[in-house]
Amino acid sequence: MNHDADAGTVDVAVAGGGLVGLGIAWRCAQRGLSVAVVDDAPGTGASHAAGGMLAPTAEVGYGEEQLLELCRASLARFPAFVAELEGESGIDVGLRTAGTCVVGFDADDMVALDVLHAFQRELGLGAERLTAREVRRREPALTPRLRGALHIAGDHSVDARALHAALRAAAEVAGVLMVPSNAAALWVRNGHAVGLELARGARMAAHTVVLALGARSAALPGVPPLPVRPVKGQILRLRGASGLLEGTVRALVRGRQVYLVPCAGDQLIVGATVEEKGFDETVTAGGVYELLRDAIEVVPGVSELELVEALARPRPGTPDNAPILGASAMPGLVLACGHYRNGVLLTPVTAEAVAELVVTGALPEFAMPFTPDRFGR
Ligand SMILES: Cc1cc2nc3c(=O)[nH]c(=O)nc-3n(C[C@H](O)[C@H](O)[C@H](O)COP(=O)(O)OP(=O)(O)OC[C@H]3O[C@@H](n4cnc5c(N)ncnc54)[C@H](O)[C@@H]3O)c2cc1C
Repeated sequence: MNHDADAGTVDVAVAGGGLVGLGIAWRCAQRGLSVAVVDDAPGTGASHAAGGMLAPTAEVGYGEEQLLELCRASLARFPAFVAELEGESGIDVGLRTAGTCVVGFDADDMVALDVLHAFQRELGLGAERLTAREVRRREPALTPRLRGALHIAGDHSVDARALHAALRAAAEVAGVLMVPSNAAALWVRNGHAVGLELARGARMAAHTVVLALGARSAALPGVPPLPVRPVKGQILRLRGASGLLEGTVRALVRGRQVYLVPCAGDQLIVGATVEEKGFDETVTAGGVYELLRDAIEVVPGVSELELVEALARPRPGTPDNAPILGASAMPGLVLACGHYRNGVLLTPVTAEAVAELVVTGALPEFAMPFTPDRFGR
């Protein structure tokens, strides 16, 4: 290995300490590898903003059946993943299993819900059509003005910030070294990734570099071209919502989408905008207004809550909305990015797949549709 690596040499250097990077670091360390996570502000990217929905059935989209399978595989792993993580870290990650209601307001919303329901049934996914009265029996805080709903018993949620804290703690227990530095560039020698160049000219050598910089993955100097782009999301946190909602509520409000996720004791998350604005983390009056207007229309009691946070972060988008997992064309560089709207949900399966690749050299079958070469096909 390289002798000018003044920041040390590890088996695996993970660039990025969001949910994806930490999950991979934890699993790699558990398998006996020396691992460092390089991030000057771990968990302040998209993982800090996420609503925490684990919702493959509610989110299903046409042409995204392979992504759905990956999401379902990850959801199936969540209970065991959480139990292990909570045991290792001592941190409760707030897994909620009360399901998700998807509600609609006008005739067009109801057509959209019926189309979604038909597609879900075609794919064998569990979703039940409810009348307005039935859904309000489940979630009494919903407005009486809605027209109808779907209930998806299998779509859950987790506290994404607690999940991040737990992963960090578990990773450190497993021996992962957290390096509080920015990665300035991929360290490349003779066409091979051999480590990371850090701030102030230091270098960390690694047998394998895992690129997990979320929306910034394509922006690291030295990384071969990668179709990852930032997709801005604005999202709100409110306080005082204890007992307001049992589970997640997603709504079509005359064609506009909003979701409400109960979280962390008495908090309620309201999200989220989807904007092609590049790396823009500005919270706008219009963004906050639209989210609150629609959330209050769905659950009038929201107007009484305390607004405690509004923030914007870039989701790591890709051309097909699916993550990029696996070896890159550059030897030594493994990709784990582009998780777009599903990075919380996909954390367990991503960690498992990438650790398996790093340890054995082979990506598990379930991750094969998501290798980077699909964009060249
Ligand atoms: C508003 C919003 C709501 C969302 N809701 C959900 C949801 O309900 N369910 C779901 O599954 N997903 C959701 N997502 C998507 C999910 O948050 C992301 O897919 C996921 O967090 C991506 O994780 P990541 O670790 O790849 O990236 P990030 O969390 O962005 O982490 C990247 C890390 O890289 C670090 N970094 C960046 N540049 C450098 C550098 N040069 N050197 C060192 N470190 C660097 C950052 O500090 C950061 O810690 C949501 C996203 C947004 C924005």
